[in-house]
Amino acid sequence: MHLKDQIALITGSARGIGKEIARQMAEHGATVMICDIVEEDAQKTAEEFKKTGYQADYFTCNVTSMQNVEEMANKILDKYKRVDILINNAGITKDNLLLRMSEQDWDAVLSVNLKGVFTCTKVLVRSMMKARKGKIINIASIIGIVGNAGQANYAASKAGIIGFTKSIAKEFASRNITVNAVAPGYIQTEMTDKLNEKAREEIFKKIPLGQLGTPQDVAGACIFLASQAADYITGQTIVVDGGMAI
Ligand code: NDP
Repeated sequence: MHLKDQIALITGSARGIGKEIARQMAEHGATVMICDIVEEDAQKTAEEFKKTGYQADYFTCNVTSMQNVEEMANKILDKYKRVDILINNAGITKDNLLLRMSEQDWDAVLSVNLKGVFTCTKVLVRSMMKARKGKIINIASIIGIVGNAGQANYAASKAGIIGFTKSIAKEFASRNITVNAVAPGYIQTEMTDKLNEKAREEIFKKIPLGQLGTPQDVAGACIFLASQAADYITGQTIVVDGGMAI
């Protein structure tokens, strides 16, 4: 499942799950474009990767701005000529019960999580169309499938990503571009590290595999979808949740 000679762009990859996806892609031979909103963070991650011997570069971009995304894409295409793999990973949460949810918090989450997938896909799919090949992987969430009280904005954005994925898969299949989504469940991050023992046990009861997922688990699904092994898979959502949604 190696990704040698592939140019992979991962949004929101300075840290968290995106960083691990980029790390595994680089480990499998891809040249990874670390794209994030804060330049120093993206630069730090790219430099850390280069020290390990990986092929990496960094670019700054706010995925909510079409102009920003176009500027970033122009720089990448000038330097690398093409993007073979696009991972739309950048995402935020602004949780609240609906009656307390502000219009700003609704707009912010929909803008980064859903519009950000639209902007990056629309701009970067052009180079894939020319090359007549490409892999687009959108990071959704199990919350977009099962919903969650207090996360209506987040759930709507992630459900939107799944619908977008299916539609774009149909639009670009004839160009040999596959479009899939990965929907993680509870993933071990700084946020879940802070949970107390009782809250942790309650979560574990809901997960048949009895433990939290890791960024490595999510990245593994992305590596599969980006590889030749998944050439005949498009429009799908792979759920990485330890069986929680069964
Ligand atoms: P993190 O917050 O750790 O990382 C997200 C990255 O995206 C950060 O570096 C952040 O930068 C960047 N980012 C935020 N806004 C923008 C923007 N407008 N343009 C470009 N980059 C931006 O998140 P996770 O790693 O936890 O999550 C990654 C993805 O996985 C998200 O889409 C999330 O919804 C999804 N997911 C996560 C789960 C989890 O348990 N963690 C479970 C299910 C899905 P900065 O920090 O500077 O804002």
